[in-house]
Amino acid sequence: DDMIVATNVNKIYPNQCHALKDVSATIKRGEVVVIIGPSGSGKSTFLRTLNQLEVISSGAIQVDGMDMYAKTTNINDLRANVGMVFQSFNLFPHKTVKGNVMLAPEKVLGRKKAEVELEAEKLLKRVGLGDKMNVFPSQLSGGQQQRVAIARALAMKPDVMLFDEPTSALDPEMVGEVLDVMKDLASDGMTMVVVTHEMGFAREVADRVLFMEDGELLVGDTPEHIFDTP
Ligand code: ADP
Ligand code: ADP
Repeated sequence: DDMIVATNVNKIYPNQCHALKDVSATIKRGEVVVIIGPSGSGKSTFLRTLNQLEVISSGAIQVDGMDMYAKTTNINDLRANVGMVFQSFNLFPHKTVKGNVMLAPEKVLGRKKAEVELEAEKLLKRVGLGDKMNVFPSQLSGGQQQRVAIARALAMKPDVMLFDEPTSALDPEMVGEVLDVMKDLASDGMTMVVVTHEMGFAREVADRVLFMEDGELLVGDTPEHIFDTP
């Protein structure tokens, strides 16, 4: 059961930077894939193509059986199905923690406030922030803000979660609490694509590790094969 199928994807930026070169990948439902590779190799660009934050130059992408560029595909539905967490948390500063989590389901999906509020409370408890629901983002640590960002993405009930270096902007002592939430999601069966330098996470949680180099996605393998080869 394939969740994401990328076929010969190319991305050429307007400045002619060829950031993705014939990238093909299949990610199965429930799979956790970690992408590693040097800075500038195209990891972030690849993630952003998976929810059309970047439009591809050629190739095809299917998410949960929907062709991203088909005229019949509603791109907003597709995007709602693909949650994304960035290096910078990008929370709305003038909304409370709970308000941040409620915003998109209410405004984008048009769901009832009471229902959305209950769901937000449940999600915030799940990421360990049950006691911070009514404070503002500036009152939280970086690790707590990133956990809010994860809860906010989950509030759209996505089938896929993308993580672009989710712990890179955090003080070292806060990395663990964010990785723990991601581990919990993985064991819950979420399909995840994670760009990270956290090799411990890759080794422990990934079903597969893929390498990017100079815009190419190289053949991947299980973490056992990658990390434990003599
Ligand atoms: P990584 O995530 O592996 O660090 P990126 O996907 O950010 O790599 O970048 C891949 C290449 O594309 C780099 O050469 C980068 O400079 C270039 N690039 C990224 N974003 C843009 C953009 N908006 N416009 C032009 N070039 C870009
Ligand atoms: P990341 O760490 O996510 O790879 P970068 O530091 O490479 O991010 O890039 C930060 C932002 O600048 C991104 O939005 C990226 O698209 C943009 N960017 C990167 N390289 C270029 C470039 N050569 N020209 C224009 N924009 C770029």
